[in-house]
Parts: sequence; C-alpha cells; structure tokens
Amino acid sequence: MLVTLLELFFSTLVVALSVWWWTDWPQAAAAASLVALAYAVRLIWKTTRIERWLSQPDLHTPLPWSGVWSEIAHRIQRLLRQREKQAEAAEQRLQYFLQAIQASPNGVTLLDAQGRIEWCNATACNHLGLDANRDLMQHIVHLVRDPVFAKYFAMAEHEAEVVMDGRASSAAQSLKLSVQLHAYGEGQQLLLSRDITSVTLADAMRRDFVANVSHEIRTPLTVLSGFVETLQAIPLDTNEQQRYLHLMAVQADRMQSLVADLLTLSQLEGSLPPGLYEKVNLPDLMRHVAADAAALSSVLSGSDGDERQPVHALVFGPAPPWALLGVRSELLSAMSNLVSNAVRYTPAGGQIRVAWSRTPDGATFSVTDTGPGIAAEHLPRLSERFYRVDRSRSRETGGTGLGLAIAKHVVQRHGGELRIQSQVGKGSTFQLTFPASRIEALTA
Ligand code: ADP
Repeated sequence: MLVTLLELFFSTLVVALSVWWWTDWPQAAAAASLVALAYAVRLIWKTTRIERWLSQPDLHTPLPWSGVWSEIAHRIQRLLRQREKQAEAAEQRLQYFLQAIQASPNGVTLLDAQGRIEWCNATACNHLGLDANRDLMQHIVHLVRDPVFAKYFAMAEHEAEVVMDGRASSAAQSLKLSVQLHAYGEGQQLLLSRDITSVTLADAMRRDFVANVSHEIRTPLTVLSGFVETLQAIPLDTNEQQRYLHLMAVQADRMQSLVADLLTLSQLEGSLPPGLYEKVNLPDLMRHVAADAAALSSVLSGSDGDERQPVHALVFGPAPPWALLGVRSELLSAMSNLVSNAVRYTPAGGQIRVAWSRTPDGATFSVTDTGPGIAAEHLPRLSERFYRVDRSRSRETGGTGLGLAIAKHVVQRHGGELRIQSQVGKGSTFQLTFPASRIEALTA
C-alpha cells in the first residue's frame, strides 16, 4: 500500500513539475489533479475486482493481476488454500471418528443440552428403535418411551447404568439393554447402550443350574439322612437293616451318578474339541454299549442274582469295521446315554434297535425304541440340563437329567449333531450324526 501511495505521490509530483517547467502553476496543478484522478479510478477499479474475487475466491487458477495487488491476492490465495487443507483434514478426522463409533458394538447417541438427538450410530438405532435421519433433533424421551428410561433420564445424576427392554423385544424374544448417560461439553450428554441379553440369559441359566443341582443332591441326601436316623433310633432286625442299607446304597449311587455326570459336562465344556489323531475302534465300542444295555435291562427286571435276564428285545445291528476319530470316553458316554435311556424308558417286553448307517456326508448312530414316545412340545428342550418329561420314571431308573445334554455336547464337539424323532405311544429314535472326516476304515 505504501508503495502505491509513494508511486502516486512521485508520479503526480513529476507530472506537476514538468507541466510547471513548460507552462505555468495553474496548468501544473490541473495536470497533477488529472494524474491523481486517473490513479484513484484505477485504484477503485482494482479494488472492485479484488472484492469480487474475494467474495468467491478461486484458489487454484493463477491470478491475472500484476504488481502489489497481485502480491496481496496471492497471499490471500495461499492462506485460503492452507485453510481449505486444514478443513479437509479436520473433516477426514471427523469421518474416521464417526466410522469408528459406527463400528462400535455398543449404541452411541449424542444428545444436546435439551436432550435432543444430535447424532446416533446404527447400533443405537437398533437398540432404541431410532432413525438416524428422521429422528435428528427429536427429544430422546419422546422416542424412547420405556418408563424405566424416562425415570432414569429425569434423574439429576446418572452414575449407575439402568437395565431396560430393547426396542426389538417381544414376548417370544426378550432383548435386554443396559443404558447409561454420561455428561460432556456444555450440558450435552452421551447415551451409551449395551446389549446384555446373553449375559442376562447366562446369569439366569447359572442360577437355574445351581438351583437344579442343589435340588438334585438334596433329594437323595434327605432320604439318606432319614434312613440313617431310622437305623440309629429304631432297633431293626437283620433283614430290615439290609433293606434299609440297600435303599441307602441306591441313593448314594444316585448322587455318585449325578456328580459323575456333572464332572463329565464340566470337562466337556472346559476342554478343546477332540483332534483327529485318536482312532476309536467302533466294533469294540459297540460291544461295550451292548453289554451295558443287556446289564441295565436285566437289572430293571427286578429279579435277583442268576435269574436276571434282559427284559427287552435288544437288537444290535452289525458293527461296521470303522474307526471313529475322536475321544473314546466321550463317544462311549454319548452312545451309552442314548441306549440306556431307551432301556430305561421302554417298558419290559419292548424292542430296542441300535444301528450304524452310512450317509452321503458321514455316518449315523441310531437308537430306536418302542417306548412311550415324547410329545412334540418337549422335543426342542429335551437336551437342556435337568429337563425331564417323566420326572418319576427318570428318578426311578437312576436318571440324572443330564444324559442327553452330555450326548449333544459330545456329538457337537465331534462335528455332528443330536437328532430326535418321537411319537407319543409309538416310540422314539435318537441319532448321533458324524461327519465323514471323523470316519475311517479300520486297519488291522
Ligand atoms: P434322564 O437322566 O432323566 O434320562 P436325559 O437327559 O437322558 O435325562 O433325558 C431327558 C429326558 O428325556 C428324560 O427325563 C425323559 O423324560 C426323556 N427321554 C429320554 N430318552 C427317552 C426315550 N428313549 N423315551 C422316552 N423319553 C425319553
């Protein structure tokens, strides 16, 4: 600017002096005024152009001006370009930040000081039933209408989280959310939501499990201690003593089976899936299962000693010359559980068929009985721990309520599944399927 003023001053002076040299003062003054006017017009014209450019500056094409104005415009252009880059970088960082929050498995909702939604991620939309576009600047309490949440939102402090039903909750499927408000900025709040359905479910299952185990153990314990008291209090003859001791042994066996099954389950849950290196001899396994089934069936006859005979028709199909790749004790336990269930639940005189068959994608072990069958509504829950259709029959025959849970666990660990078909009054078929990768031909 100083340069321009000096330029204007000296040009005017030179023109005025030259005119004065050749003519006179008035002409010199007129000439100087003309020069100053010309300068002023040029100045206004350039300023107007720059002003126009500044209102919508083009930061990337070179400027057409020269001299001091060009220098000023170039500096402005450079500064604006720097600003533009900074703004782009800030925008990019914001986008990364938002993408990171979008990827969060937790719901994140930003609320302004009035409790209106400023932004929310997709998880929050799912949890709370929000629409990220439509519901912007809507008050959160108008959209999340759960009374638990409304009460929580109205509280002055939000130090603890609160549990409420998720938006997708229904009678068939309950979705539990844990939500908490965190204050930030100038009165804004961060609403975090977490899906705790599986945690709540696991918690309920753990409680049920402990209650079931306690109940299962308490029953035989109560019976046992009752017998002990009787033996202590009443003088009994030898025969009666023997009868009581036998009944006590039955209860002790029951507790032992329960503890053994619980240990098996916990081992199954706590160990890695079986590898493919152990080859279990299938004919050998089937002989073992068949002997156990015959023994159990004869015990159920109720007769004593040498008179014991199986009370069922036990039909074992030919054992294929295969090796099963897996853990012998687990496989034996799964197969035995299915066969012993068939024996225990099928009335005397019934038939039990046990067979292996090859399928396109592996092999299947089937146990079919002519027992009472199971109503369809029980089938989906049958392999739950301690689930029983016929409680008294299960207990009478020494059932723990864990047999099918163990069988299902074992077969799943071996890459297969437990299938159940049953019809009330006709009988049941329980199957264990194994993938082809677990079957090999036996080598001598
Ligand atoms: P349990 O020790 O009571 O037999 P399981 O887990 O082995 O426990 O079986 C669960 C329930 O399924 C049993 O209590 C019984 O009601 C039913 N069940 C199992 N196998 C049969 C079967 N072959 N026939 C009829 N009911 C069966």
